[in-house]
Amino acid sequence: MYKCFRVKKLIVPVIIILCIAFFFMGKKLFSIAYPEEKPVKLPVIMYHSIYTDSPSEYAVTPQQLENDMKWLHDNGYKTVSAQNLCDYVFNNGSLPEKCVMITLDDGYYNNMQILPLLEKYDMCAVISIVGKYTDEYAENDPHNLNYSYLTWKDVNDLLDSGRVEIGNHTYDMHSLYNGRKGCAKNASESENNYVSAISADISLMQEKIRENTGISPFIFTYPFGAVSPESRSVLRENGFLITFTCRELPNYITRDPKSLLGTGRFNRSGVYSTEEFMEKYIAHD
Ligand SMILES: [Zn+2]
Repeated sequence: MYKCFRVKKLIVPVIIILCIAFFFMGKKLFSIAYPEEKPVKLPVIMYHSIYTDSPSEYAVTPQQLENDMKWLHDNGYKTVSAQNLCDYVFNNGSLPEKCVMITLDDGYYNNMQILPLLEKYDMCAVISIVGKYTDEYAENDPHNLNYSYLTWKDVNDLLDSGRVEIGNHTYDMHSLYNGRKGCAKNASESENNYVSAISADISLMQEKIRENTGISPFIFTYPFGAVSPESRSVLRENGFLITFTCRELPNYITRDPKSLLGTGRFNRSGVYSTEEFMEKYIAHD
């Protein structure tokens, strides 16, 4: 009777200990079967003009551009597209181990020079255009490599290559005036006024791109990297899934859609050689 009572007393703690042990063993086995996914490091390079003669903070020469692409290729980097990123986040897709993204801002006509290089090195790029430049400036100018902007025909040629995606860089907010930096909120305006100003500009640009190319961009590039928290809901409503800033940091992409927002980029200043730039911003952990 006494012995039986002692055994009964022991059963409960033994069951608890076994439950705890199975719980931890189960967790361990699960983590072996399904190892936790590490975020994918994604450095993004931001180019502007591909200027024939002199390099500057916002211009590289065609030779520098090719040197960069060769360096990335020879060092095992694979370019990823914005679509690849969305497939990874939303459709359980995969990304290469050493990935990098090439972006070019403002829609200079000289960006057309990247096309043969994308073919040569089997790469892709995102070009973010400013509506007003393409609509008003480019249509009548002579396709000068030093100062012209892309026309809608050029934009369509880039899209037809299958190697370039187009981002929205605002219709007419790529400027610094009236105390506003790009499409950021002006300190003196009300939130309502700000939201209607940015909504009107961004939806006009989406409409223009749709009208002229048939695509609806899901990439938004903040002019000057100037971000206002109030812009986020407007961008969401306009269907943007990826937003680019100028924060000079690498990105860590997870399956969380938020990891595609506020994406940092490294400005590719032409004052660096390829090796200097890549060592400084891309190659290290
Ligand atoms: Zn810009």
